[in-house]
Amino acid sequence: MARYLITGGAGFIGSHLCESFLKKGHEVICMDNFSTGAKENIASFARNARFRFMDHNVSRYIEVREPLDYVLHFASPASPVDYLELPIPTLKVGSLGTHNALGLAKAKNAAFLLASTSEVYGDPLIRPQHEEYWGNVNPVGPRGVYDEAKRFAEAMTMAYHRYHDLNTRIARIFNTYGPRMRMQDGRVVPNFITQALKGEPLTVYGEGEQTRSFQYIDDLVEGIHRLLESEEHLPVNIGNPYEMTVLQFAKKILDLTGSQSSIVYKPLPQDDPQVRQPDITKAKKILAWEPQVKLEDGLQKTIEYFRARLKESKA
Ligand code: UDP
Repeated sequence: MARYLITGGAGFIGSHLCESFLKKGHEVICMDNFSTGAKENIASFARNARFRFMDHNVSRYIEVREPLDYVLHFASPASPVDYLELPIPTLKVGSLGTHNALGLAKAKNAAFLLASTSEVYGDPLIRPQHEEYWGNVNPVGPRGVYDEAKRFAEAMTMAYHRYHDLNTRIARIFNTYGPRMRMQDGRVVPNFITQALKGEPLTVYGEGEQTRSFQYIDDLVEGIHRLLESEEHLPVNIGNPYEMTVLQFAKKILDLTGSQSSIVYKPLPQDDPQVRQPDITKAKKILAWEPQVKLEDGLQKTIEYFRARLKESKA
């Protein structure tokens, strides 16, 4: 049995990770300040004797009594709408928060995993994106607060690895979806599903020709487990290479929900990446990992989740 500290543990991805480590019999300390996370996300396992919640902002000095085996740094706003509203906390959690989490891992002699992102590739000039690609990021654009914070976080993680010999991992996570995403977080999956379920028009930004590839949360969790078991210190892409345009995605959501909603076109946000598709050759080779969940199956589960949340909010 090992003890894991997960920052952002009450967030969408963080809460699924907490749950997965508890299921494997480990101890979990979940750190969150509910900036974009939610109590409901951890409610189903909050009473587990191997679980402890710490209400703390990781951008401030962290004090933990217990010994730790792993520190997983997942705290950060991750929806473009959130990080445009929280630009300075986003920069802080990626920089100061990463520094604190790394310092904690070093003090506890724990392994460290950074939740990085496909956003480090910016608006990529190659497709698919492999790990050796340095990216095309606008540092002073509105998305720069997230992209540059995560790029700094990767640099800091590698410096702790090289200089302090810390046992580190970097996961570059591509668009991920599933239950526990916030209904109003502004990302395309919750937006389209809730719009479709409410019979409101689906808001496609630009002409909807930009592409994304969506991975289901269970595939990501498995990828993170395998990365932790590996010896790979350089970044590894974790995502689903099944790519489609945003317009195709809107039509898929209309299909799966059986909704009569129309599609309306809204302005494309500044610096919105035109393409995004992970090259997962590395993950396949060194982690023997690749996504297992079909888009339709993952979306059905996510639609059910949002349907239930909408019912609750009406009740
Ligand atoms: N998008 C959209 N309508 C929405 C929300 C998002 O067309 O209501 C588009 C957005 O412009 C982007 C893609 O969907 O091209 C994915 O956006 P999301 O906010 O989910 O995250 P991103 O992949 O940009 O980080």
